[in-house]
Amino acid sequence: MLSEPYPQLDDLLTMMGEAGRHLADIEASEGAAGNISVALRWPVELRTKFPVIGEIELPQPVPELSGATFLVSGSGRRLREIIDEPTANLAAIVINDGGLTGKLYTSFQRRFERVTSEFNSHLAVHYDQMLATGTNFHAVIHAQPMHVTFLSHVPRYQDEAYLNTHLLRWQPETIINLPEGIGFIPFRIPGSPALMAANVDCLRQHRIVIWAKHGVMARSDVSVKRAADRVEYAETAAKYEYLNLAAGEIGEGLSADDIRRICTTFNIKQTIF
Ligand SMILES: [Zn+2]
Repeated sequence: MLSEPYPQLDDLLTMMGEAGRHLADIEASEGAAGNISVALRWPVELRTKFPVIGEIELPQPVPELSGATFLVSGSGRRLREIIDEPTANLAAIVINDGGLTGKLYTSFQRRFERVTSEFNSHLAVHYDQMLATGTNFHAVIHAQPMHVTFLSHVPRYQDEAYLNTHLLRWQPETIINLPEGIGFIPFRIPGSPALMAANVDCLRQHRIVIWAKHGVMARSDVSVKRAADRVEYAETAAKYEYLNLAAGEIGEGLSADDIRRICTTFNIKQTIF
């Protein structure tokens, strides 16, 4: 939830660009992999940057979000290039009354036909979170961090308890930043209704979820960069875990007792350790 003064359109485009570039820097967005969206409930002036106006049918009805604005990456666009030319890589959508359709705002420079093919998951998660918490801002990122994704191919890390007790033991900050741990969704076809439904459910309990054998989705109601941070925290934890596996598991990690004492000191509620 954000309070006034609200970030303006230019600030939001810049933050999406910086998040996209950082995700590429940490090798979580090769080629055109990954997608970003933000939802906001305060009015923004779109026509100066996005003068081409069309209609779009929404992947699901979202009547309670009529009037809300979404900024969404275009299908096939590279997250690392948003910063250079936001309007070529992003679209804006304002939800029409009734919540079945939206006005699609794009630029003459737009380099995509449609918004991201994962927009169904983005919209469903925004909708669920905005209704549940009443937040006026919500950011969602899908990225493909290498070490997290690799571990999701290893059967023992497909168990949420095993995954979290192993990944969250390498740095004291990890449990502070991800107190609900990392969620795990078994492989689902990209862009499918099954992936969308699993995302909504899993992101109710977690700030970041793994899509097995594919990548992650992270959310934040503070900023798009905070959502990108969550991808980086999970990826750093997975990198430590991978290093430990590669080194013949010689690392101790923080003990469960260490982590419980960290949580007591910093007043963190968690149920993993
Ligand atoms: Zn993907």
